[in-house]
Amino acid sequence: MGKCKGLLERLKNNESIVVAEGYIFEFERQGRLKAGSFVPEIVVDHPELVRKQHEEYVNAGSDVVLAFTYYGHREKLRVIGRENELETLNRKALQMARDVADRTSTLMAGNICNTTVYMRDDPEAIKKTENIFKEQIQWAVEEGADFIVAETYSDLGEAMLALQCIKKYGKGLPSVVALVPHSKDHTLDGVSFPDACKQLEDAGADVVGLNCGRGPATITPLMKEIKKVCKVPLCCLPVPYRCTPEQPTMQTLKDPKTGKQAFPVDLPAHTCGRTEIREWAEEMKALGIQYIGLCCGNASHYLREVAEAYGRSPPASRFSTDMSQHFIFGNRKDNKPYYSETLRKEITTANYK
Ligand SMILES: [Zn+2]
Repeated sequence: MGKCKGLLERLKNNESIVVAEGYIFEFERQGRLKAGSFVPEIVVDHPELVRKQHEEYVNAGSDVVLAFTYYGHREKLRVIGRENELETLNRKALQMARDVADRTSTLMAGNICNTTVYMRDDPEAIKKTENIFKEQIQWAVEEGADFIVAETYSDLGEAMLALQCIKKYGKGLPSVVALVPHSKDHTLDGVSFPDACKQLEDAGADVVGLNCGRGPATITPLMKEIKKVCKVPLCCLPVPYRCTPEQPTMQTLKDPKTGKQAFPVDLPAHTCGRTEIREWAEEMKALGIQYIGLCCGNASHYLREVAEAYGRSPPASRFSTDMSQHFIFGNRKDNKPYYSETLRKEITTANYK
């Protein structure tokens, strides 16, 4: 398959980019990495499964194959005692993503994220953070990334440093820079999200916005504010959980049964319905959000809703829901057993007394 149009070219043409994220949660669910450390060890241990997941997401409508290097940085690998595999993990993740992107005519993005060592006003921590960004960006460049995604920064300072490193070491690759909106309406270093996004735009980020942390219902009001002040294309990739004004992030959600923190393992109690993901995506499209996707908790059935809301018809759309074919709830005369009406009443009223 031929080389596809680049990120900036598409955005300039007013086209949209659908992006599947959420690899960490997906593989944690499959028992392939640990909730807690959340390190993408699977890249080294079972690369074939990562490749398969990339293909799944493209099948569901992703325009981007995001190399699975999120939390695959020096500090995270140190925590689990696998720092000696750092470069192997990064190169393997990038090479696989490149290969899938080439085979499917999609884009490949390198991925850097919050380092967990960054501390504002601490020169040593800042130096350490810059080194983490530098090595991951350089590997992404060498392995042929089309652009770099820098994401889940709670401090504008760390996001700004990530952007500066992409400019410095990224050999001109475009940048997508996303902040994570935790409970308060400003970054941890006290800048409102619209203001922070504007500052990233002014510093030369090609796409700015928010990802992770909040669900569709609580990220949307912030995106509307950001839209008012930013001119560059915006990105929005929430988590598909039912966050509320009282519990605005997945970390603040309480399990409805126990009242305890649901993050991370009890979050399934709060998963969004597919219809609400679709309606949210339609709202984002109407708002003009060009770079759209889902983060932690994402799965192919959700991403297909986003892709279809954005006017796409990915291979997975062949199997999009068609209840007209159902033998009870459908309307096809050639598919109606004699008892279907009786059964429909029983099923929909749960009249089991
Ligand atoms: Zn996430």
